[in-house]
Amino acid sequence: MGLLTKFDGLAAGRAELGALGIDPFAVQIEKIISPTEGIIHGRHTILAGTNNYLGLTFNPECIASARLALENEGTGTTGSRMANGSYSGHRNLEKELAAFYGKRDAIVFSTGYVANLGMISTLAGPGDVVLLDADCHACIYDGCRLGGAETIRFRHNDAEDLAKRLGRLGPRAAEALIVVEGIYSMLGDRAPLKEIVAVKREYGGYLMVDEAHSFGVLGERGCGLVEELGIMDDVDFVVGTFSKSLGCAGGFCVSNMPELDLIRYASRPYIFTASPAPATIASARQALRILEAGKDLRQRLHNNAQQLHSGLAALGYTLGGEPSPVVAVVLENKVEALQFWDNLLKLGVYVNLMLPPATPNGVSLIRCSVSAAHTSAQIDAVCAAFAKLRKAA
Ligand code: PMP
Repeated sequence: MGLLTKFDGLAAGRAELGALGIDPFAVQIEKIISPTEGIIHGRHTILAGTNNYLGLTFNPECIASARLALENEGTGTTGSRMANGSYSGHRNLEKELAAFYGKRDAIVFSTGYVANLGMISTLAGPGDVVLLDADCHACIYDGCRLGGAETIRFRHNDAEDLAKRLGRLGPRAAEALIVVEGIYSMLGDRAPLKEIVAVKREYGGYLMVDEAHSFGVLGERGCGLVEELGIMDDVDFVVGTFSKSLGCAGGFCVSNMPELDLIRYASRPYIFTASPAPATIASARQALRILEAGKDLRQRLHNNAQQLHSGLAALGYTLGGEPSPVVAVVLENKVEALQFWDNLLKLGVYVNLMLPPATPNGVSLIRCSVSAAHTSAQIDAVCAAFAKLRKAA
C-alpha cells in the first residue's frame, strides 16, 4: 500500500457521509454561549455532548484564576518541564492532587491522553505484561504499544476472565499491570472494581484505574469510583484528566509508589512535550478547590443524569448502561445513527455520534453527556427531541 493510498478507504467513507449530506466530524460550534448552550448551523442548540460534567468552563472563579495566571505568567511555558523547568503552579497542583487523593505524590501531564501514554509506556516495557479491559480508551492501548509490553485484553468488565488470564501467566502475574477505567467513556457503565481488586489480591500485579469520566463525578469527595467503593488503598495508580469535570485540559497520575517521581526521568510523553500553560494549570487548581468545597455540583449532575436516563428509558430506547453522566443510546446501524444524530441537531440538541470501530462490539451510539449546569428544563427539552424522533420512526 502506498504512503497516501491507504487513505482511500477513509475518503470513500467520508464521501458516503457526504452523499447523505451529513458530516458529523466537521460540526462547528459557531458560538459558545454557556457550558450547555451554543450556536450550531446558526441555530440555538443545547449542548449535551461535551463531557463538561460539572459545568465549570464558565465558572467565574476559574476564569479569574486563569486570567491572573495569563497576565502574570504569560500565554505558555514554551517547553517541557524536564528541559525548561516547572512553574510553581505545576508542582503545587501535583501536591494538591496528591493531598486530595490522600496519596504520596502526583505527576501532572499535558493531557489525559498523554498521562496514560506516559504512565503505561514507562511502567511496562519489553518483557512486561499489561492486562487491559477490552473497552479501554485508545490512549491506554497506545500506551501499551509505545512501551512495547506484551498486551493481553480481557473481556469487558469480566473479573473472571481477568483471573483466568492472570492464572495462565504463572509467576509473571505478580508483576503484571492491570488497567481498567472507572466509568467507561462509550456506554457509561462502571468497572466491577471490587471484583477486580479481589482478583489482584489473589494473583498479584499492579492496578491502574483511569478515572477520566468518574473524577469529580463519583465518591464522597469526588475522587472517583475508587473512592466510592472504598478501595483507594488497593489501587496502585489513579489516572485522570482535567478536560472533563475540571473544564480545562491536562492529565495526572496519583500514587503511593515511591518510584512515581522517577517516572518523570524515563517517560517520553512527559519529557518530550510542552507542559500545560499557566492559565490551564490555574483554572485546574481552582476547579479542584471547587470540587473540594462541596457536593452540590455532583448532586445536581446525578439528578440530571437520572432525569435523562429515566426519560429516555421511558421512551423505549435501548441504553448502554446504568444512570451515569454518560447516557448512551444504542441504535441499529451506522446510517440510522447518523440520521438520528443529524435530526437531533436539527431539533437543537447536540450529542456525540459514536460509530464502529471506535465503539465496543461494533455498536452505533448516540452518546449524551450530562452536566451539572443543565437545567431540568434543558434535560426535558433533550428528552422531547428524542420523543419526537421516536414518533417519527
Ligand atoms: N481516558 C479516557 C477514558 C478518556 O475517555 C479520555 C478522553 N475522552 C482520555 C483518557 C483522554 O483525556 P484528554 O482529553 O485529557 O486527553
